[in-house]
Amino acid sequence: MAAAADTAITAPRTHLRDLAIADLEGVLAGAGAPNPALLARRLAVALHREGATSSDEAGLGRRVRGWLASRFDLEPLLDVADRREAPDGTVQHLFRTRDGHVFEVVRLKNLKNRTLCLSSQVGCALACTFCATGTLGLTRNLTAGEILESFSRAARDDDERVGDVVFMGQGEPLHNYDEVLLACDNLAHCDGPAISKRRITVSTSGLVPAIRRFTAEARLWRLHLSLHSAIEETRRALMPVARTYGLDELLEAFREHQRIRQVKWLTFQYVAIPDVNMDEAHIEALDERLQGLRVILNVIPWNDTGGTPYRAPTWTEVKEFTTALRRLGRPVKTRYSGGKQEGMGCGQLAGGILPRRPTGGHVMAPPGIFSDL
Ligand code: SF4
Repeated sequence: MAAAADTAITAPRTHLRDLAIADLEGVLAGAGAPNPALLARRLAVALHREGATSSDEAGLGRRVRGWLASRFDLEPLLDVADRREAPDGTVQHLFRTRDGHVFEVVRLKNLKNRTLCLSSQVGCALACTFCATGTLGLTRNLTAGEILESFSRAARDDDERVGDVVFMGQGEPLHNYDEVLLACDNLAHCDGPAISKRRITVSTSGLVPAIRRFTAEARLWRLHLSLHSAIEETRRALMPVARTYGLDELLEAFREHQRIRQVKWLTFQYVAIPDVNMDEAHIEALDERLQGLRVILNVIPWNDTGGTPYRAPTWTEVKEFTTALRRLGRPVKTRYSGGKQEGMGCGQLAGGILPRRPTGGHVMAPPGIFSDL
């Protein structure tokens, strides 16, 4: 009896932000809430749309707050470790979890709206050789509540509405499948931030079983692939995950995804690294390997992460490469990595710490080279 009582006292309370909005009413009803439907809606709007980060901010009466506090956790999961702004308007938010781990959300200022680049894990197990996060190893998965609170805090820092959410921050999102997809459900919910389903992007480095699961479960979010090379040896050198899931089964999984989910255009990311994956042989391999797939190639000029053998391409090299790719008859975009001079760009996220400051490479870009500016 004493042991049971101890368990009741010490068992961690469920954080309300960790629950799917669709399940809130049922959970509150199960806990004996007098008007669960109304309370569920109020909580969903307060936590996920208005970005309240504590029970005080949720606009609830004292009695309701007390009732909730005795049954659930509603207090902040994160605190702000730092906020940095780059000259191009990109903002890096660094958040600290209750157990002391730091991760980023990057807010990108596009022409039409704001994009939030969210992290799914603290660090990453996949150790891609061109990526600063890959040097950290995996500390742990983020919970859905932590992901959603990082969204809320970063979103309310700005007057402009967030139109796009991409899971391209720290971590491999499909390695934290359940928490990331629960977060996606809440981000798209009409009582939450109501981000358009077609504007939530999950980007994977190629975990084939999880890609197949995503397809089979008819998930609505956009699924992007970090391809980076259509030559097996190069891909293995860049991305250790390619030693487990080779190009044949990876591209077959995406072929299946495109066919079953009727995706008109897939998007494959391609980090462009001189002397590694930008030569004629790699262009020909892309032509050959991508036959039968309708793919937009999203070229990301590699960003200096410090302490690697790679170098950033010059603009002339990027231009020559994308021009050659366009001759394959495929749509090609060139992605601007916001804040890269400050270490906030694609592949540079490492909890605010880079092994050494980026040396630059792309301080100025010729007008018109980027597709998203
Ligand atoms: S590129 Fe993505 S999957 Fe690879 S190490 Fe970096 S965060 Fe992980």
